[in-house]
Amino acid sequence: MAAAAAARCGRDPCGALCPLLTYLGVGYADYAVLAHVLPQPALRGSPWCPVHAAAFNLIVLLLLASHARAVLADPGLVPLPDTAIDFSDLRSAAPRKPEKSPEEWTVCERCEAYRPPRAHHCRVCHRCVRRMDHHCPWINNCVGELNQKYFIQFLFYTGLASLYAAGLVLATWLGPPGRSPVGTAAGGESGSNRIQTAHSIVLLFESLLFGAFVAVVFYDQLVSIITDETPLEKLQKKGLKEMDRGGLRAPRPKLALLREVFGRGFVLCWLCPCSCSPPPGPGYSPLPSRYV
Ligand SMILES: [Zn+2]
Ligand SMILES: [Zn+2]
Repeated sequence: MAAAAAARCGRDPCGALCPLLTYLGVGYADYAVLAHVLPQPALRGSPWCPVHAAAFNLIVLLLLASHARAVLADPGLVPLPDTAIDFSDLRSAAPRKPEKSPEEWTVCERCEAYRPPRAHHCRVCHRCVRRMDHHCPWINNCVGELNQKYFIQFLFYTGLASLYAAGLVLATWLGPPGRSPVGTAAGGESGSNRIQTAHSIVLLFESLLFGAFVAVVFYDQLVSIITDETPLEKLQKKGLKEMDRGGLRAPRPKLALLREVFGRGFVLCWLCPCSCSPPPGPGYSPLPSRYV
Protein backbone atom coordinates (compact mmCIF):
# COMPACT_ATOMS: atom_id res chain seq x y z
CA MET A 1 0.00 0.00 0.00
CA ALA A 2 3.00 2.33 0.54
CA ALA A 3 3.88 2.01 -3.16
CA ALA A 4 0.28 2.88 -4.08
CA ALA A 5 0.43 5.93 -1.78
CA ALA A 6 3.68 7.08 -3.45
CA ALA A 7 2.10 6.66 -6.91
CA ARG A 8 -0.88 8.79 -5.83
CA CYS A 9 1.58 11.57 -4.78
CA GLY A 10 2.91 11.61 -8.34
CA ARG A 11 -0.60 12.04 -9.76
CA ASP A 12 -1.75 14.62 -7.21
CA PRO A 13 0.90 17.02 -5.76
CA CYS A 14 -1.61 18.11 -3.07
CA GLY A 15 -1.52 14.51 -1.85
CA ALA A 16 2.15 15.01 -0.91
CA LEU A 17 1.85 18.59 0.37
CA CYS A 18 -1.18 18.19 2.67
CA PRO A 19 0.18 15.21 4.70
CA LEU A 20 3.49 17.10 5.03
CA LEU A 21 1.59 20.14 6.37
CA THR A 22 -0.23 17.82 8.78
CA TYR A 23 3.04 16.41 10.19
CA LEU A 24 4.58 19.91 10.46
CA GLY A 25 1.47 21.28 12.18
CA VAL A 26 1.24 18.37 14.64
CA GLY A 27 5.01 18.47 15.33
CA TYR A 28 4.92 22.20 16.00
CA ALA A 29 1.87 21.92 18.29
CA ASP A 30 3.58 19.20 20.34
CA TYR A 31 6.79 21.26 20.58
CA ALA A 32 4.91 24.46 21.53
CA VAL A 33 2.88 22.70 24.25
CA LEU A 34 5.86 20.92 25.81
CA ALA A 35 8.48 23.67 25.45
CA HIS A 36 6.49 26.90 25.77
CA VAL A 37 3.01 26.39 27.24
CA LEU A 38 3.41 23.85 30.05
CA PRO A 39 6.60 25.53 31.44
CA GLN A 40 4.73 28.82 31.93
CA PRO A 41 4.39 29.98 35.57
CA ALA A 42 0.62 29.28 35.70
CA LEU A 43 1.12 25.56 34.90
CA ARG A 44 4.66 24.44 35.73
CA GLY A 45 4.11 24.24 39.49
CA SER A 46 0.87 22.29 39.18
CA PRO A 47 0.90 18.53 39.86
CA TRP A 48 -1.28 18.24 36.71
CA CYS A 49 1.56 19.46 34.48
CA PRO A 50 3.03 15.97 33.76
CA VAL A 51 -0.52 14.60 33.32
CA HIS A 52 -1.24 17.25 30.67
CA ALA A 53 2.07 16.42 28.93
CA ALA A 54 1.29 12.67 28.89
CA ALA A 55 -2.37 13.15 27.82
CA PHE A 56 -1.48 15.56 25.00
CA ASN A 57 1.21 13.20 23.69
CA LEU A 58 -1.20 10.25 23.83
CA ILE A 59 -3.72 12.20 21.72
CA VAL A 60 -0.94 13.13 19.26
CA LEU A 61 0.12 9.47 19.06
CA LEU A 62 -3.45 8.32 18.33
CA LEU A 63 -3.81 11.15 15.77
CA LEU A 64 -0.68 10.02 13.91
CA ALA A 65 -1.66 6.34 14.13
CA SER A 66 -5.15 6.95 12.70
CA HIS A 67 -3.67 9.18 9.98
CA ALA A 68 -1.16 6.48 9.01
CA ARG A 69 -3.94 3.86 8.88
CA ALA A 70 -6.13 6.16 6.73
CA VAL A 71 -3.20 6.80 4.34
CA LEU A 72 -2.02 3.20 4.03
CA ALA A 73 -5.27 1.21 4.35
CA ASP A 74 -7.11 -0.14 1.32
CA PRO A 75 -10.13 2.21 1.06
CA GLY A 76 -12.13 -0.63 -0.56
CA LEU A 77 -10.72 -0.93 -4.08
CA VAL A 78 -12.99 -2.91 -6.38
CA PRO A 79 -10.98 -5.93 -7.56
CA LEU A 80 -10.12 -6.01 -11.24
CA PRO A 81 -11.13 -9.15 -13.17
CA ASP A 82 -8.40 -11.75 -13.78
CA THR A 83 -9.26 -11.83 -17.45
CA ALA A 84 -10.35 -8.92 -19.64
CA ILE A 85 -14.12 -8.62 -20.01
CA ASP A 86 -15.48 -7.66 -23.42
CA PHE A 87 -17.56 -4.50 -23.01
CA SER A 88 -17.66 -3.68 -26.74
CA ASP A 89 -21.41 -4.37 -26.92
CA LEU A 90 -21.99 -1.81 -24.15
CA ARG A 91 -19.83 0.79 -25.92
CA SER A 92 -21.51 0.24 -29.30
CA ALA A 93 -25.02 0.26 -27.84
CA ALA A 94 -27.13 3.38 -28.14
CA PRO A 95 -26.39 5.90 -25.39
CA ARG A 96 -28.36 4.95 -22.32
CA LYS A 97 -29.82 7.03 -19.62
CA PRO A 98 -26.75 7.94 -17.50
CA GLU A 99 -28.62 7.92 -14.20
CA LYS A 100 -28.72 4.49 -12.58
CA SER A 101 -30.11 3.39 -9.31
CA PRO A 102 -27.32 3.14 -6.71
CA GLU A 103 -28.57 -0.37 -5.90
CA GLU A 104 -27.46 -1.82 -9.25
CA TRP A 105 -24.11 -3.25 -10.32
CA THR A 106 -22.62 -1.01 -12.98
CA VAL A 107 -19.73 -1.18 -15.41
CA CYS A 108 -16.74 1.14 -15.07
CA GLU A 109 -15.38 1.70 -18.55
CA ARG A 110 -12.16 3.21 -17.18
CA CYS A 111 -11.34 0.17 -15.02
CA GLU A 112 -13.06 -2.17 -17.52
CA ALA A 113 -14.65 -3.99 -14.61
CA TYR A 114 -17.99 -4.59 -12.97
CA ARG A 115 -18.44 -2.64 -9.76
CA PRO A 116 -20.87 -3.31 -6.92
CA PRO A 117 -23.58 -0.87 -5.82
CA ARG A 118 -22.27 2.35 -4.22
CA ALA A 119 -18.81 2.04 -5.85
CA HIS A 120 -17.42 5.04 -7.74
CA HIS A 121 -14.38 5.66 -9.90
CA CYS A 122 -11.66 7.89 -8.42
CA ARG A 123 -9.76 9.96 -10.97
CA VAL A 124 -6.68 10.22 -8.70
CA CYS A 125 -6.46 6.56 -7.64
CA HIS A 126 -7.52 5.40 -11.12
CA ARG A 127 -9.65 2.69 -9.50
CA CYS A 128 -13.22 2.17 -8.38
CA VAL A 129 -13.72 2.35 -4.61
CA ARG A 130 -16.59 0.78 -2.68
CA ARG A 131 -18.87 3.31 -0.94
CA MET A 132 -16.49 6.08 -1.99
CA ASP A 133 -17.03 9.26 0.00
CA HIS A 134 -14.38 11.48 -1.58
CA HIS A 135 -10.67 11.58 -2.43
CA CYS A 136 -8.94 13.42 0.41
CA PRO A 137 -5.56 15.14 -0.18
CA TRP A 138 -4.97 15.29 3.62
CA ILE A 139 -4.65 11.50 3.71
CA ASN A 140 -3.55 11.18 0.06
CA ASN A 141 -6.15 8.43 -0.34
CA CYS A 142 -9.79 7.85 -1.06
CA VAL A 143 -12.18 7.77 1.89
CA GLY A 144 -14.14 4.60 1.29
CA GLU A 145 -15.80 1.60 2.88
CA LEU A 146 -12.67 0.20 4.58
CA ASN A 147 -10.82 3.32 5.79
CA GLN A 148 -13.59 5.79 6.65
CA LYS A 149 -13.28 4.76 10.30
CA TYR A 150 -9.59 5.77 10.39
CA PHE A 151 -10.32 9.03 8.56
CA ILE A 152 -12.99 9.98 11.11
CA GLN A 153 -10.66 9.01 13.98
CA PHE A 154 -8.01 11.27 12.46
CA LEU A 155 -10.53 14.15 12.41
CA PHE A 156 -11.62 13.36 15.98
CA TYR A 157 -8.08 13.31 17.42
CA THR A 158 -7.07 16.43 15.46
CA GLY A 159 -10.10 18.24 16.89
CA LEU A 160 -9.35 16.92 20.39
CA ALA A 161 -5.67 17.97 20.19
CA SER A 162 -6.70 21.43 18.94
CA LEU A 163 -9.21 21.83 21.78
CA TYR A 164 -6.67 20.62 24.37
CA ALA A 165 -3.90 22.92 23.11
CA ALA A 166 -6.25 25.94 22.99
CA GLY A 167 -7.46 25.09 26.53
CA LEU A 168 -3.89 24.94 27.86
CA VAL A 169 -3.01 28.29 26.27
CA LEU A 170 -6.12 29.90 27.78
CA ALA A 171 -5.30 28.33 31.17
CA THR A 172 -1.89 30.03 31.14
CA TRP A 173 -3.48 33.37 30.32
CA LEU A 174 -6.56 33.23 32.54
CA GLY A 175 -5.32 31.00 35.38
CA PRO A 176 -3.73 32.24 38.62
CA PRO A 177 -0.19 33.55 38.07
CA GLY A 178 2.51 31.13 39.23
CA ARG A 179 5.78 31.91 40.95
CA SER A 180 8.95 32.68 38.97
CA PRO A 181 11.82 30.27 39.55
CA VAL A 182 14.21 31.41 42.26
CA GLY A 183 17.37 33.08 40.94
CA THR A 184 16.03 33.93 37.47
CA ALA A 185 17.32 37.26 36.16
CA ALA A 186 14.55 39.78 35.46
CA GLY A 187 15.75 40.52 31.90
CA GLY A 188 16.09 36.84 30.95
CA GLU A 189 12.66 36.05 32.40
CA SER A 190 10.97 38.83 30.46
CA GLY A 191 12.67 37.75 27.18
CA SER A 192 11.62 34.16 27.79
CA ASN A 193 8.04 35.31 28.53
CA ARG A 194 7.88 37.12 25.21
CA ILE A 195 8.95 33.97 23.32
CA GLN A 196 6.45 31.86 25.27
CA THR A 197 3.67 34.36 24.55
CA ALA A 198 4.53 34.43 20.83
CA HIS A 199 4.43 30.61 20.63
CA SER A 200 1.15 30.57 22.61
CA ILE A 201 -0.47 32.98 20.14
CA VAL A 202 0.73 30.95 17.12
CA LEU A 203 -0.46 27.72 18.78
CA LEU A 204 -3.88 29.19 19.61
CA PHE A 205 -4.29 30.42 16.03
CA GLU A 206 -3.26 27.02 14.63
CA SER A 207 -5.61 25.20 17.02
CA LEU A 208 -8.59 27.37 16.12
CA LEU A 209 -7.90 27.05 12.38
CA PHE A 210 -7.42 23.26 12.32
CA GLY A 211 -10.08 22.70 15.00
CA ALA A 212 -12.77 24.58 13.05
CA PHE A 213 -11.81 22.85 9.79
CA VAL A 214 -11.92 19.31 11.17
CA ALA A 215 -15.13 20.04 13.12
CA VAL A 216 -16.94 20.88 9.87
CA VAL A 217 -15.59 17.79 8.04
CA PHE A 218 -16.31 15.56 11.08
CA TYR A 219 -19.92 16.78 11.17
CA ASP A 220 -20.30 16.15 7.41
CA GLN A 221 -18.92 12.62 7.81
CA LEU A 222 -21.33 11.76 10.63
CA VAL A 223 -24.29 13.16 8.68
CA SER A 224 -23.18 11.16 5.64
CA ILE A 225 -23.12 7.96 7.75
CA ILE A 226 -26.41 8.36 9.61
CA THR A 227 -28.26 9.46 6.47
CA ASP A 228 -26.67 6.48 4.64
CA GLU A 229 -25.73 8.72 1.74
CA THR A 230 -22.28 9.75 0.56
CA PRO A 231 -21.75 13.20 -1.06
CA LEU A 232 -21.43 11.46 -4.44
CA GLU A 233 -24.75 9.68 -3.90
CA LYS A 234 -26.40 12.98 -2.97
CA LEU A 235 -25.32 14.36 -6.33
CA GLN A 236 -26.41 11.16 -8.09
CA LYS A 237 -29.80 11.27 -6.37
CA LYS A 238 -30.42 14.77 -7.68
CA GLY A 239 -30.11 13.32 -11.19
CA LEU A 240 -32.71 10.60 -10.58
CA LYS A 241 -36.29 11.22 -11.52
CA GLU A 242 -38.80 11.09 -8.69
CA MET A 243 -40.26 7.81 -10.04
CA ASP A 244 -36.83 6.11 -9.98
CA ARG A 245 -36.28 6.80 -6.30
CA GLY A 246 -38.54 3.94 -5.29
CA GLY A 247 -35.58 1.55 -5.74
CA LEU A 248 -33.35 3.37 -3.24
CA ARG A 249 -32.24 1.81 0.06
CA ALA A 250 -34.73 1.39 2.85
CA PRO A 251 -33.94 3.49 5.95
CA ARG A 252 -31.87 1.66 8.59
CA PRO A 253 -31.27 2.38 12.29
CA LYS A 254 -28.53 4.97 12.88
CA LEU A 255 -26.60 2.69 15.27
CA ALA A 256 -26.50 -0.07 12.61
CA LEU A 257 -25.14 2.44 10.09
CA LEU A 258 -22.48 3.64 12.56
CA ARG A 259 -21.50 0.02 13.34
CA GLU A 260 -21.10 -0.64 9.63
CA VAL A 261 -18.33 1.98 9.56
CA PHE A 262 -16.77 1.68 13.03
CA GLY A 263 -17.14 -2.08 13.56
CA ARG A 264 -19.35 -4.29 15.66
CA GLY A 265 -17.17 -4.29 18.79
CA PHE A 266 -17.55 -2.14 21.91
CA VAL A 267 -18.14 1.55 21.32
CA LEU A 268 -14.71 2.22 22.95
CA CYS A 269 -13.14 0.27 20.05
CA TRP A 270 -14.48 2.97 17.74
CA LEU A 271 -11.73 5.23 19.09
CA CYS A 272 -8.95 2.70 18.51
CA PRO A 273 -7.08 2.98 15.18
CA CYS A 274 -7.00 -0.79 14.66
CA SER A 275 -9.23 -3.45 13.10
CA CYS A 276 -11.61 -4.54 15.88
CA SER A 277 -14.07 -6.42 13.66
CA PRO A 278 -13.94 -8.29 10.34
CA PRO A 279 -14.67 -6.24 7.20
CA PRO A 280 -18.18 -6.45 5.72
CA GLY A 281 -18.81 -9.49 3.58
CA PRO A 282 -20.68 -8.58 0.38
CA GLY A 283 -19.22 -6.70 -2.54
CA TYR A 284 -15.84 -8.43 -2.82
CA SER A 285 -16.43 -10.43 -5.98
CA PRO A 286 -15.24 -8.81 -9.20
CA LEU A 287 -18.48 -10.01 -10.85
CA PRO A 288 -22.17 -9.44 -10.10
CA SER A 289 -23.79 -12.39 -8.29
CA ARG A 290 -25.63 -13.47 -11.48
CA TYR A 291 -22.24 -14.30 -13.04
CA VAL A 292 -20.70 -16.23 -10.12
ZN1 LIG B 1 -13.31 2.54 -12.22
ZN1 LIG C 1 -8.90 8.27 -4.75
